[in-house]
Amino acid sequence: MAKSPADIQAFTASAFTTSDKFTEFCNNGGKPLGGIIGGKSVAGSMNATFQTTDPGSQEVLATVCEMGQAEVALAVEAASRAYCGEGKKGWKNTSVADRIALVKKLVELCERDRDILLACEVRDGGKVSELAEGDFRQIRGCAEYFCGVAERIPVGDSPPMEVADGVQAFTHREPWGVVAGIIPWNYPIVLTSWFMFPALLSGNTVLIKPAEDTPLSALYIGKLAEEAGFPPGVINVLPGRGEITGQCIAEHPEVRYIAFTGSPGVGQAIFRTCDRHGTRMKREMGGNGAAIVLGDADPELVARMIGRATNQHFGQTCCTVHRVFVDDKISDDFIDAQRTFFEGLKIGYQVDEGTQLGAVVNSTQQSRVLQAQQETAARGGDAILPGGLADVSGRDGFYLKPALYRTAPGVKCNPFEVFHAFATVCPVSSAEEAMQLANDSAYGLGASVWTQDIDRGVALAKQFRDGTGQVNCHNTVAYGMPYGGQGISGGPGGGVNCEETFLDYTQVKAVYVANYPG
Ligand code: NAD
Repeated sequence: MAKSPADIQAFTASAFTTSDKFTEFCNNGGKPLGGIIGGKSVAGSMNATFQTTDPGSQEVLATVCEMGQAEVALAVEAASRAYCGEGKKGWKNTSVADRIALVKKLVELCERDRDILLACEVRDGGKVSELAEGDFRQIRGCAEYFCGVAERIPVGDSPPMEVADGVQAFTHREPWGVVAGIIPWNYPIVLTSWFMFPALLSGNTVLIKPAEDTPLSALYIGKLAEEAGFPPGVINVLPGRGEITGQCIAEHPEVRYIAFTGSPGVGQAIFRTCDRHGTRMKREMGGNGAAIVLGDADPELVARMIGRATNQHFGQTCCTVHRVFVDDKISDDFIDAQRTFFEGLKIGYQVDEGTQLGAVVNSTQQSRVLQAQQETAARGGDAILPGGLADVSGRDGFYLKPALYRTAPGVKCNPFEVFHAFATVCPVSSAEEAMQLANDSAYGLGASVWTQDIDRGVALAKQFRDGTGQVNCHNTVAYGMPYGGQGISGGPGGGVNCEETFLDYTQVKAVYVANYPG
């Protein structure tokens, strides 16, 4: 059935009750939550802890131990032992069927403890329940997809071929060994799954470095991994700051591969560190997504759909829309409808029924967004909704109003990723002009075209300099389809969620065998 504008609503909170088991997990018997290394909880030799808070209320949820150089070294040793097995069958020689059985057990345990993991996402991550529930379903979706890939894609020796007289050759594909996933705060459960499942199923042992703002779900998954029966050291979790724990991981030469998701600046710095000692890397980074709205689109309907995408996790979504280029015949109606949508967003605490725009993750983000709103105006953007701080009665969180700016071709008022319900709208005279402006960006993660003419939409979507082109949808992901970035938004690596992802977690070597000379 065709959608009407009224059907399109922002992601919305249902009333959320925090389970006692979550509180119990966070309290940890009065002790800070340790990292998980070699199957044990580790307090850390630095004696350093940090607090993780609810961004909507600033309530401290848990105290967490920070892992330093010694703990990273310990985790690498534990992961190496688990990989090789030391006399026993290591993870690298564990059959695919056995790896799959353990992954499936872990998924079952996550589903058993859904309430706790949802609380991690809603309370620690600051998400509304509608989005958190969708994120939670990705655990199973991702695991099942990569279990199928692991069954299909052989790791090991290729059939031999004769390459010269008396010389045979074959390729040998094998896991890297110890690989690390460095995870950002905006989609902790999703991005931990997207890293962990393909890395484990292809035979690697893993270090998970959650973001300092959202360490709880990875720590809980690490605890469940032990219960599921993963051998100690196969899954290690190292909480801490990026410049401490993350940096130590990047500097450790025995971490053979790093999957980084986060901001381009940090990804570039880690890449340089890794390159000094030959650690390979894949990177999934930020975006500044464009949407092109053609003149045949219903301005109200499309403005609401784009508004929903822009406000996904309050705009803290890497691939979402922040730059709109709209046919000037419908631009006034489009801007009116987008303003109505943004003005109608219910700003509130993310656990309260009906909230659509909650607090951003921390005070740094709040300042960054405010600064970006001011810079947009200073660069020539015309404020329709200027943004600014928002008040939520009785809540001491990092709240901000949505922002909407009108701009014009040639006015580059929105060049960087602004992680909030924030968009600039630029009226254009043709689709070609829109495409040229959309592609005039260093980022290249996801972009979309909105039109009734699907063939034209597809032809345009293929012209984006982005990892994902979409027609009449945005923020679309599916297992089996590569999700990655071009420009400063990604690479190297073949993106996530596809067969190439699985192959990224392996390396291939050539083996030549000549007859004995004599
Ligand atoms: P960030 O780059 O600040 O941090 C990401 C991770 O890197 C965190 O775990 C952090 O602790 C760690 N880190 C920071 N400095 C480090 C260092 N020097 N060495 C090693 N590790 C370090 O990013 P963020 O603010 O947590 O997340 C938001 C960013 O992530 C946005 O740019 C967003 O677009 C991007 N993102 C991209 C995708 C994608 O799939 N392309 C998905 C989600 C988020």
